[in-house]
Amino acid sequence: MNSASASWCLSRAGGVVCTRPRGHAGLHNRSGTSRMWSDREADAPLCPGSGAPATPAPRLADGFPHGTALCEACWGFVPLDDGLLAPHDAFRGADDAEEVGRRSVWFNTHGW
Ligand SMILES: [Zn+2]
Ligand SMILES: [Zn+2]
Repeated sequence: MNSASASWCLSRAGGVVCTRPRGHAGLHNRSGTSRMWSDREADAPLCPGSGAPATPAPRLADGFPHGTALCEACWGFVPLDDGLLAPHDAFRGADDAEEVGRRSVWFNTHGW
C-alpha cells in the first residue's frame, strides 16, 4: 500500500496529493487519509514530471543544486523523494538573481 510509483494521479487539493492510479474513476484520495476531493475542488495541476524516476544532478563546486534533480518536463531542479521527483509546480523561472546565475553556470557545465 502507498508505495511510490510514477503512475499516481497527482491531483491536488490544499497541498494533499492524490495517490490513486492515474486516470482513476471517482473522487481523488490521498491513501491512508480520509481526505477526498473532486476535480472541481482540485488545485491547479502539478508539473507532469512529478513522480518520474530521477537521479540527483551533478553538483557545482558550491554544492548547487544541492542534491535535487533536473525535471525533464519543466527544467526545474526538484527535490527527490525516494528516487522519484517530488510533486511540484512546473518551473516558471528562478526566484532570484543568484539562482538564475547558478542555473546558468550549471547548464554551461553539465547542460547540453
Ligand atoms: Zn486522483
Ligand atoms: Zn517539473
